Amino acid sequence: MIDRSAILEKDREHWLHPLHHPSSHTDPLIFESGHGVWLRTVDGKELIDGLAGLWNVLLGHGNQELAEAAREQMSRLAYCSSYAGSGNLPAIELADRLAGFAYPSLNTTFFTSGGAESNESAFKTVRYYWKRLGKPDKVKVISRQHAYHGITLAAMSATGMTAYWPMFEPRVPGFLHIPAPYPYRYAGDIQPGETVGQAAARALEEAILREGPDTVGAFIAEPVQGAGGVIVPPDDYFPRVREICDRYDVLFIADEVITGFGRTGDWFALRRWGVEPDIMSFAKGITSGYLPLGGIQISDKIREVIMSAPPNERWMHAYTYSGHPTCCAVALKNLEILQRLDLASHAARMGARLLQGLQGLAEEFEIIGDVRGLGLMCAIELVKDRETKEPAGLGEQLRQACIQRGLFTRAIGDIFAFAPPLIISEEEVDRMVAIVGESLAAIIG
Ligand code: PMP
Repeated sequence: MIDRSAILEKDREHWLHPLHHPSSHTDPLIFESGHGVWLRTVDGKELIDGLAGLWNVLLGHGNQELAEAAREQMSRLAYCSSYAGSGNLPAIELADRLAGFAYPSLNTTFFTSGGAESNESAFKTVRYYWKRLGKPDKVKVISRQHAYHGITLAAMSATGMTAYWPMFEPRVPGFLHIPAPYPYRYAGDIQPGETVGQAAARALEEAILREGPDTVGAFIAEPVQGAGGVIVPPDDYFPRVREICDRYDVLFIADEVITGFGRTGDWFALRRWGVEPDIMSFAKGITSGYLPLGGIQISDKIREVIMSAPPNERWMHAYTYSGHPTCCAVALKNLEILQRLDLASHAARMGARLLQGLQGLAEEFEIIGDVRGLGLMCAIELVKDRETKEPAGLGEQLRQACIQRGLFTRAIGDIFAFAPPLIISEEEVDRMVAIVGESLAAIIG
């Protein structure tokens, strides 16, 4: 039997946890194992992993095929450098496998270890692209409120969740934030006859014109905003955004770190709106989180510009773990399984069921002001009053009530997010909804 108090003592003394105040470290969940959508703590509690780790564990926990792929590659060649053109078989296979998979014009991959590194790579690619085309002033990046793009300095500066800023300011100059296409709480102005999607796209055009198109290098967006509150844009938003970017020669970076690889019910989220980005950041789901891997895919247009550089101008951007053979081997196996099980379609079906279940709860509980989702990325928003939409201030209480009843997920203020592993069954979806219902009934009495 594991001695929980001894472990907790070591944890409390020596581990600085992300997004946590050490002094509040009194009764944390310490996970010990997992199977499918279920997590098990060291004291034997079983919980549904309602956020699939951090949105990433697409195949669920305890997948032996992924474990075997890692073991096999580690035994053969765990690591080697990819600097200066050297390579390895899994990374080459994976780059080939990814070519055209997300979007037809994205055929070239640069590998990283996670989402923030991917976005940093995207921003540097944008700078280099415009420099080579003789427009070195196009360095500004337009992002959105509620965006999450990671926490390295430039990624943090692109992040529009302001709570991430104060401890580490000043931010990198040149990152701007416009209102998000947030139908429930749109923060910008809406002109008569305009939809939220049109207004939010207009905010992009106005920002480009205000800053001057010659200074704006890129626009970055999560197709569905995740950490900022599972914000699903209206259907008319991204097609307009693409047109505006084209009109003003602004590159469009899609941050598909959460939405990629089936989460939204399509293999990649922007496909739903018939839109292709110029650069796509990915991470998380590519290995189902079993090992850290991320990257960017660049369009053929950007690749040509990089290719046209003189031979002494090498690509001076590098990570030790770029193209890590073991991570890439696990990614290849993960993609094979995702496709074999057709998990994007399954996510669409389970997502629809989850959304319907949550809408049922909204009929029962006045406190649910909004229900939204795309595929297996869903949320409810708790309000005091449906008219005023004043936040209920009960998100954390609901989270705790759900944990007690066997569901682990995240509260973003009063927004309660659901993004379970894509392998979830109908019964498990129904169980999640039932737990939320029971927990709501318990906290509002
Ligand atoms: N982009 C998005 C959309 C994310 O959700 C995240 C992580 N939640 C990141 C970037 C950063 O990824 P990482 O934590 O791997 O750096």
